[in-house]
Amino acid sequence: MNNYDVLIIGGGFAGATSAWHLAKKGLKVLLIDSKPWNRIGDKPCGDAVSKEHFDNLGMPYPEGEQLEQKIQGIKIYSPDNETVWKVDGEGFEINSPAYTQRLLREAQDRGVEVMDQTTAMKPIFEDGFVRGAVIFDRRKEQQTEVRAKVVIEATGYSMSFRSKLPQELPVTELLDDRDSDIAYREVGITKGDIEDPGYLRIFINQKASPGGYWWYFPKGKNKVNVGLGIQGGMGYPSIYTYYQKYLKDYAPDLERIVVKGGALVPTRRPISTLVWNGIIVVGDSAFTANPVHGGGKGSAMISGFCAAKAVLNAFEVGDFSAESLWETNVCYNERYGAKQASLELFRRFLQRLSDDEINYGMKKRVIREEDLLETSLKGDLQLSVVDKAMRVISALGKPSLLFKLKTVAEYMKEMKSLYKEYPRSPKELPIWKARVENTLSQFEQSVK
Ligand SMILES: Cc1cc2nc3c(=O)[nH]c(=O)nc-3n(C[C@H](O)[C@H](O)[C@H](O)COP(=O)(O)OP(=O)(O)OC[C@H]3O[C@@H](n4cnc5c(N)ncnc54)[C@H](O)[C@@H]3O)c2cc1C
Repeated sequence: MNNYDVLIIGGGFAGATSAWHLAKKGLKVLLIDSKPWNRIGDKPCGDAVSKEHFDNLGMPYPEGEQLEQKIQGIKIYSPDNETVWKVDGEGFEINSPAYTQRLLREAQDRGVEVMDQTTAMKPIFEDGFVRGAVIFDRRKEQQTEVRAKVVIEATGYSMSFRSKLPQELPVTELLDDRDSDIAYREVGITKGDIEDPGYLRIFINQKASPGGYWWYFPKGKNKVNVGLGIQGGMGYPSIYTYYQKYLKDYAPDLERIVVKGGALVPTRRPISTLVWNGIIVVGDSAFTANPVHGGGKGSAMISGFCAAKAVLNAFEVGDFSAESLWETNVCYNERYGAKQASLELFRRFLQRLSDDEINYGMKKRVIREEDLLETSLKGDLQLSVVDKAMRVISALGKPSLLFKLKTVAEYMKEMKSLYKEYPRSPKELPIWKARVENTLSQFEQSVK
């Protein structure tokens, strides 16, 4: 009874996407989530997701109650509010629980078993393979063993399953607190109508949100998701202190609060391998969020999709080893991971800039809106643009900023090409990982 082909732990965006892509493929799949059904997908989030993710993965667009606002683009405000960049790009401001539950319902209708209020307590680990989990069903107050050929761990930032595996396994990689963002948001009703609700607003200000930014994301004409992120591990005051102090500056029209809460987001390159024998890690647990803006729903979907694809191929050959599941890494890094690794360097650079430098850089268009878009889409900071800006700014008297930007662009390119050479098998992982870490420490020396 308790033998499955695939056990998915966690029904957030990552786990639900895997379940959706594995449904009706002839496999016996079980998805469990600790939360009661009506709260699955309900986690602190800005809820903005770019349309391209749904298109690229063949996923349904949010609709009806799942869609709160169609997005046309983003307005980015400089710290002194004097420069506003408008970057166009389609997306959705979604109702996350409603959309996640829709994916789960569709997967369930196509044969995936879903158990809510059920927690994976610890892994079953035998002969170097993950073979399943000991689970606890809160409704029945019952602990049982579930065995599976492959476990997809999608436990979000908690990493609550993979953290209990033997520490020598590469999938137990830890997160440095400084490579995370502490984020808090409230969703509420506004006093009047929101102007231009099709545009998300992002406010950069190192005083009001050190190492992060404030956001104001309309959810229709009279509802808004407003919040901020700050860099973790820096010993800053609590996130709520910033929220209370600066809320009036960024959302003076917020009136009645509907929901509030905070959580953490990883802001680095993905975990060096998403797979090991019998296990695939996806979503926040695999550090798949975008290092610059912290958006992680789209990339959680990509990792969930890549995991499902690799699982189907593994069942074709009946091999569930790290070697066989390896294509998850190749798929993910090609689609997103390489860009993430390069953006991690950009994020580290941006976090060190002063408000003055950001004001200056945005005003003088050291990087232009379209280059910022290109950088965030592809993880490439074009050297030609930097070279051009370099000449202008040198003449204007801020050469050190530009010199650093040029160095950053070079390292971003190098990091991306390292990811193009991602190992084709687990054996080559340690050497490749050492090269990545070496590049990172050289980068740190160069931009100090
Ligand atoms: C304040 C804030 C704002 C954000 N804004 C945005 C945004 O605007 N756009 C965007 O794209 N991203 C945003 N993000 C990031 C985004 O929320 C995450 O990257 C994304 O939701 C990760 O999805 P996931 O499926 O990996 O994890 P989660 O959504 O965290 O899902 C994990 C699931 O696993 C379950 N679980 C955990 N452990 C167990 C266990 N042992 N057994 C059973 N179940 C378990 C949990 O109950 C949960 O349902 C934001 C994050 C924060 C904190």
